Amino acid sequence: MQKILVSACLLGEKVRYDGGDSRQSGLIAQWQSEGRLISICPEVAGGLPIPRPPAEIVSGSADAVLRGRGSVQRQNGEDVTDAFVDGAERALALCMKHQIGFAILKEGSPSCGVNSVNDGRFSGIKIDGEGVAACLLRRHGIDVFSEQEVEQLALLLND
Ligand code: SF4
Repeated sequence: MQKILVSACLLGEKVRYDGGDSRQSGLIAQWQSEGRLISICPEVAGGLPIPRPPAEIVSGSADAVLRGRGSVQRQNGEDVTDAFVDGAERALALCMKHQIGFAILKEGSPSCGVNSVNDGRFSGIKIDGEGVAACLLRRHGIDVFSEQEVEQLALLLND
């Protein structure tokens, strides 16, 4: 059975910056019960604690971050770019290990965001963009879906 990578918070793991989760029901819960999902929280995998201060891509895009030309920072200016890049690489390594071609990632996150991220000014406003892990997975040919797009993934999987 083809495995799917998933953001750990979507499975109810309390790994969010605020110590909470983003548990989903429906197809994600069904696939979890079928043993199809492999979870990771890239930020925790990159060494960040729970809870942790929120961070945003403040300079450049996720692609720029991965090219060493952008940064991820906390509101106080603390730079956490290295942890975000490390976590993204660990997510990719997990995909390679399990020959994973699809991922379901939490929309809006600076790591996992698929179509949107915060605007980098800690204003609460979302802009078009992607998180660092989502960007790295896409670069390596992995099809990335948000938790709002699982029906599209199901069609691809012919479920
Ligand atoms: Fe969820 Fe991804 Fe944020 Fe971890 S980094 S809490 S998996 S959205």
